[in-house]
Amino acid sequence: MLILVINAGSSSLKYQLIDMNGEICIAKGLCERIGVDGKIEAKNMRTGEVYEEETAMPNHTVAFQSVKKALISGNAKVIDDLAEIKAVGHRIVQGGALFNKSVVIDNEVIDGIESLCDLAPLHNPAHIQGIRACIEVFGKEVPEVVVFDNAFHSTMPPEAYMFPIPYEYYEKYKIRRYGFHGTSHRYVSARCAELMGQDIKGLKIITCHLGNGASITAIKNGEVVDTSMGLTPLDGFIMGTRTGGIDPSAVTYLQAKEGWTPEQTDTVLNKKSGVLGISGISNDDRDVKAAALEGNARAKLARDIQWYQIRKFIGSYVAAMQGVDAIVFTGGIGENTFDLRADVCEKLAFLGIALDAAANEKTIRGAEGAITAPDSPIKVFVIPTNEELMIARDTQDLVK
Ligand code: ADP
Repeated sequence: MLILVINAGSSSLKYQLIDMNGEICIAKGLCERIGVDGKIEAKNMRTGEVYEEETAMPNHTVAFQSVKKALISGNAKVIDDLAEIKAVGHRIVQGGALFNKSVVIDNEVIDGIESLCDLAPLHNPAHIQGIRACIEVFGKEVPEVVVFDNAFHSTMPPEAYMFPIPYEYYEKYKIRRYGFHGTSHRYVSARCAELMGQDIKGLKIITCHLGNGASITAIKNGEVVDTSMGLTPLDGFIMGTRTGGIDPSAVTYLQAKEGWTPEQTDTVLNKKSGVLGISGISNDDRDVKAAALEGNARAKLARDIQWYQIRKFIGSYVAAMQGVDAIVFTGGIGENTFDLRADVCEKLAFLGIALDAAANEKTIRGAEGAITAPDSPIKVFVIPTNEELMIARDTQDLVK
């Protein structure tokens, strides 16, 4: 069974075509600059052939037509007929409190996602455009499924998701912690239990998704009890360009001093802060690490803050779950940055983490495995995430 997985942004559209027979990605690609000019890059994963074209993409419908063309024709073609694709799965960032699991798309579901646009103004409107365009190009006969980024976090208890502001604002606007990266946390926690050969129902796991955006989640018996991102993906700890949690008064103080509008405030906190803001160099850890190693003090400070805050979050989630059996690192940084992992694990040795330094250093670039000694009371794993596969699995389960 072939399933197309879609991640539609406001000006971009990423896709993967997954053959569920073996769970293999057979094609992937990206449409960029939708609404500006337009460019598609499509790769046939079996042959390695890449198709590239700059072509006008005034909207998502035209972008989907380009995807369709790249899948069935040209040098990176993977299938003869679009009818071979049996279902489509869409990634949706914000499902609010309306959706706690993946669902098959119908008009009611689209209305529900639309009703949450206020909570995710950068994402949900783009997802809806993507869904509508996909239905237009692929036809109503192909079942489509939506998989929500926050659904996995819907098991959080109120003491973890409520913000201590006047209760009326929760009632009026549904302001609370929702959490994100749920599909990734779900995938790596399930895989962690598999690697441990144990039922997830008896495990306490802390999953660290560390990419440009980053979040940490506490999972007890397979259910999320707390997660670091909040109403939006801004909360938690320092990220590539985002602040993570800071004293809200620092924000109102700066608004008063600098005269920022809400939009300007959002831009500074989301796009100019974090590792980029502190280092003044880059949001990419590879650049910041290189500068830190050359003696740049602000680059080193950015990494020191990051490593310290990650350790603090893990510590707080050990307290939240009253223990921990395993910790997982995933995401571009979690999967590759072994010096960060070593620092965090060594400084948590008192909990019962015995790092295997050699295993840690070699488990990079897509490798999976334990980075603790076999007798370590707490196991630490590196598990490359695969959100697309998770979306494809949910889609298959729902359309079967
Ligand atoms: P996003 O949140 O955009 O999906 P990623 O998960 O791709 O982010 O992570 C991006 C971060 O991962 C960057 O800071 C980058 O430095 C780091 N990273 C990605 N690949 C590697 C690699 N091969 N070696 C070292 N760092 C990497």
